[in-house]
Amino acid sequence: MISVDEALKTILEAIHPLGCENVPITSALGCVIGEDIVSGRNIPPLANSAMDGYAVIAADTAFANKGKPAVLDVLEDVPAGRVATQPIRKGQAIRIMTGAPLPEGADAVVRVEDTEAQGGRVKIFVAAASGLDIREAGEDVKTGELVIPRGSVLRAAEIGMLAALGRSYVSVHQRPVVAVISTGDELVEVDETPGPGKIVNSNGYSLAALVREAGGIPLQAGIARDTREDLLARFRTAARADIVISSGGVSVGDYDLVKDIMAEIGSRIQFWRVAMRPGRPLAFGLLEGKPLFGLPGNPVSSMVSFEQFIRPAILKMRGYRNIYRRAVRAEMKEGFTKKKGLRYFLRARVEFRDGKYVAALTGEQGSGILKSMVLANGLIVLAEDITSVNPGDEVAVQLLDNSLDLTPVPDYL
Ligand code: AMP
Ligand code: MG
Repeated sequence: MISVDEALKTILEAIHPLGCENVPITSALGCVIGEDIVSGRNIPPLANSAMDGYAVIAADTAFANKGKPAVLDVLEDVPAGRVATQPIRKGQAIRIMTGAPLPEGADAVVRVEDTEAQGGRVKIFVAAASGLDIREAGEDVKTGELVIPRGSVLRAAEIGMLAALGRSYVSVHQRPVVAVISTGDELVEVDETPGPGKIVNSNGYSLAALVREAGGIPLQAGIARDTREDLLARFRTAARADIVISSGGVSVGDYDLVKDIMAEIGSRIQFWRVAMRPGRPLAFGLLEGKPLFGLPGNPVSSMVSFEQFIRPAILKMRGYRNIYRRAVRAEMKEGFTKKKGLRYFLRARVEFRDGKYVAALTGEQGSGILKSMVLANGLIVLAEDITSVNPGDEVAVQLLDNSLDLTPVPDYL
């Protein structure tokens, strides 16, 4: 049996970022970019107006005020998307809309609120400084500027920037395809009514959802019966994916064949038991460098094991540098006693209350109690060497979602 830390180290050492592929920017959200994005253009391309108003020569307005406006001849109207057909000279102005290029000769824009149109002329009620309400060419991005460095995670802002730069495709790290095999003679499909002794295959769905949440591409490899033949066939097919996950059949029962099957298809088993609860049985094998995870069958064990080992592995494959869940330090609402030597992960609800995080257990911690996972937004991590915690003790909590950010805005903000 090895520790959680050793297990994670072994896994991550064996896993490398996948290669890059060109994808449409509409599919690139959350991906890690595999190229430096250097701007080939100025944004904005030309100096333009920051306001609806009049393009003027600042000097013409030098002594203007409310009582003594400067009066200028208006040459034309330039809406956004058009350019002025003529330069302006002393005593002249051009009506201009936000975003329209600044006409030649103008060096300021006076917003419409500080003016009054009068036939073909305009009264200007303020003295405009040179440069007023003008956006310079390249004010946002300059030609040759490094805008998005390789390795960045693409968010909405980066996607918008790529579009602004005229990039409809971008090179990103591939998402791993993750095959999910559910093992067990007791399992029926979700649409079937379970007969005596049968249960619905729920792991196949929770694990596929976790894969998707981590940005992998889940591939349902179906239910494998607890026979050598069926397991072999499923694993052989699934091994075409980038990662293979199975659930169940990995403990020491008579029908727990997964470890042997993994070896039989040619993978080297790196370990098969981890000092943790829930989730002690966990086989990790490498088939020509491809990771195979035999997760335990209990619904919570398989999810918690996925969180600890497979999620970081998927994120590493996707090129992420930040591969772990966010964690907070929280105060325990209740006490808990545990076995020494195992790392415990307790399902809990964390809330921000009175200036601190407080974690309450969500109920029974048995590894088959999926409901306490439904109620949880975090996993309290209790280290191997401790045997108990008391109410009020501070513990680390891995956050499973961002529901904490949705609690009322804390008063320090
Ligand atoms: P096993 O490790 O195969 O003995 O499974 C441990 C427990 O998890 C048993 O009670 C199984 O019925 C349950 N289990 C195994 N696979 C699944 C699954 N795909 N969905 C829901 N429960 C499962
Ligand atoms: Mg089983």
